[in-house]
Amino acid sequence: MHIVTKKELSKSELYKSILRRRDRRAAESTEFILFAAKVLEINRITSNHSVCLRKRKRDGEQVVTAQLTCNKDYVDGMLQDDNAFRVLQGVRNSSHHWHQEGLRVRAMVRQFGLPHIFLTISAAEIKWLELIVILKKVLDCETINEEQAREISDQHKATLIQRDPITCVRYFDNRVEFQHRESQHVHMIIWLSDAPIYIPQDEDNNETVCKFIDEIITCSTDYDVEDPIYQLLPLNTHRHTHTCRKKCNRGVKCRFGIPFFPMDKTRILSPITPSDGES
Ligand SMILES: [Zn+2]
Repeated sequence: MHIVTKKELSKSELYKSILRRRDRRAAESTEFILFAAKVLEINRITSNHSVCLRKRKRDGEQVVTAQLTCNKDYVDGMLQDDNAFRVLQGVRNSSHHWHQEGLRVRAMVRQFGLPHIFLTISAAEIKWLELIVILKKVLDCETINEEQAREISDQHKATLIQRDPITCVRYFDNRVEFQHRESQHVHMIIWLSDAPIYIPQDEDNNETVCKFIDEIITCSTDYDVEDPIYQLLPLNTHRHTHTCRKKCNRGVKCRFGIPFFPMDKTRILSPITPSDGES
């Protein structure tokens, strides 16, 4: 491939350009996308590798030589103080990446206090008509509106989504800033202003907290068919899958403990102590 340009492009700029072109052949090839991701990852690790070794020289430590890297004690030392993992800096989904993310979350908790809501959001691409309109335009050069997109069969929509992962990912990025490269869901913690603070053993406070929870969370299924929330019920109802059962003995029990024991109202349950049984 010959590319005429005044400025030398970095590898990532080059791949970005190839994958975002009007000609979608490269973007429709999973092999090419995975190859590009691999090349960028190896590049990143190689450049981190030389930075790590140069840095150790500047710190006044001994210069790293090939012979030194064959020394078991030296390598163990690098692993012990986590220096060996620095080469994974900036590599998504590596142990170093998640360690950094963990530090960020802990820093936020120290700044803002305990979060109030934990949320998991999944992408429902098939229901995103705007995305289907874009994919039809980009892949089949057909201009349709959202009404026409609604009429397309789910199977055809799934094929469109599978054919052009790059456009889908860019669209996801548009909707949510995604941390993950491949899994299309987000785990999120949220801090709310003016949320009551839970005080154990304080009955008045417990009541206030329960009232607050009732304002923002419900497990009711009692909605009218016309209500937009009604459409979301099946998406928010638990169905046992293999992940429920993978850690349990002989795969019988759901590891989330679902179904839950029914309760008529919101309650905060404190752990049962041995003395509770006596009284
Ligand atoms: Zn389950």
